[in-house]
Amino acid sequence: MHLELPNRLANFIGGNFIAPTQQQYFDNCNPATGDVLCAVPDSTEEDVQLAVTAAQQAFPAWSTTPAEQRFKVLNKIAELLESNLDALALVETNDNGKPLSLSTRVDIPRAASNFRFFATGLLHFASESHSMEDKAINYTLRQPIGVVGCISPWNLPLYLFTWKIAPALAVGNCVIAKPSEVTPNTAYLLSVICKEAGLPDGVLNILHGGGQHCGSAIVAHPAIKAISFTGSTRAGKEIAAVAAPMFKKISLELGGKNPAIIFPDCDWDTMLNTVIQSSFANQGQICLCGSRILIHASIYEKFKKAFVERAAALTVGDPLEKTSKQGAIISKMHFDKVLHCIEQAKAEGGTILLGGHAIKGSGRCENGLFIAPTIIEGLGPHCKTNMEEIFGPVVTLQAFDDEADALAKANCSDYGLAATIWTQDLTRAHTMAAQIHNGIVWVNCWLLRDLRTPFGGFNNSGIGREGGWEAMKFFTEQKNICIALGTTH
Ligand code: NAD
Repeated sequence: MHLELPNRLANFIGGNFIAPTQQQYFDNCNPATGDVLCAVPDSTEEDVQLAVTAAQQAFPAWSTTPAEQRFKVLNKIAELLESNLDALALVETNDNGKPLSLSTRVDIPRAASNFRFFATGLLHFASESHSMEDKAINYTLRQPIGVVGCISPWNLPLYLFTWKIAPALAVGNCVIAKPSEVTPNTAYLLSVICKEAGLPDGVLNILHGGGQHCGSAIVAHPAIKAISFTGSTRAGKEIAAVAAPMFKKISLELGGKNPAIIFPDCDWDTMLNTVIQSSFANQGQICLCGSRILIHASIYEKFKKAFVERAAALTVGDPLEKTSKQGAIISKMHFDKVLHCIEQAKAEGGTILLGGHAIKGSGRCENGLFIAPTIIEGLGPHCKTNMEEIFGPVVTLQAFDDEADALAKANCSDYGLAATIWTQDLTRAHTMAAQIHNGIVWVNCWLLRDLRTPFGGFNNSGIGREGGWEAMKFFTEQKNICIALGTTH
């Protein structure tokens, strides 16, 4: 198949590619060049209603389709994502600004893995049975919920979109999904792929538009019984406020302000190589990036020198160039926000050790939105810079004295998504991992993902867990059936 992006994206409803009811569109730009890529439907509640109707019509057949058949079609989607890797990676990079090497190596392969993982998972999904000796037997059915909503952000566009859609479909739901309005392009191509793969009409409906008109209408629709959301803590609060009184199931994967804790006994080279990644990969726009680097006081100066040197060598520029390690920031609004946060850090008394400014692109990227990798020191744990999510190529360095001090500094955040600990001392690693307030703890690694493990955060980082059986359970309702064996008294 040949994937091509049209000048105007269409919604994918009931297996048809259709224009938004109100005929309203907005422009979608390449953040590395400023070029307009396409017009995006500004969908509204009328479009959400059309999608809900299509999903409701598709549900009886899809929810009773044999597992083997559901596996085949979801696995076919995985295969088509893989066989179109290069085309999809290029579209993702043009839409998001991330280096093409990253889209090719991480984003698109992971999107394919998401579909393959949950396609195979559905063949093994089972539920419990509880025997009450000779009195009764209980068994639990896990049934699909019906029509569910999946809303995703711009930083890992197809990767996170498919991470929600695949488990929802696998267990037999019909889905209304909305990608971020700033990175809708691979989601559009996914609709083309689903059609080609033979996914029945109406099983997956992809709507394009903003959070205000389209996202909020998905959340508020009474027939959409569960919402799986990844995005900002701000939007997560708004969604919870609407969905909770309607008693919808909600899974919220929100922001982070993650600590990377470095002890003197770590494997220095592995640590340094990885902390460069965990700080600046995807221009620091990954919810799991370690933006607060905590270093044992005895190695603070050594780390600072080596880290600044390594970060200074990261080439920032055209995402299509093989040499570029850092691409563009997603949008002008976000670019301004990140630069504002850097000014705020200075006003709070921080010292800029590296970067701290925008970078002018060249050639086709002269209008691109680039920010230099930025390293800041001299700020305490409670200042805004260390408490609020920046979500850009900006990290702070803080020294700590001992394990207790490291834990206190790591845990003073309102967020609790992911922590990284660098030490060769197993006892210390286990003890600290148990005490740290984060849903994910990496020891001597970062972003090493096993899709079976629970994924999610504490506190302002959200509620619920994605991944493995957690995601498949989220997208089902449990029903316990108790059968008396003979007389019960
Ligand atoms: P965002 O909250 O602005 O938007 C995310 C999605 O929600 C978009 O599709 C948007 O249109 C929609 N949306 C916005 N307001 C809405 C509302 N009131 N109702 C329904 N939908 C709404 O987030 P973003 O700027 O796209 O993404 C960056 C944020 O996402 C960061 O905070 C980052 O930490 C977080 N994130 C978290 C994870 C995680 O797994 N925890 C992963 C990636 C990104």
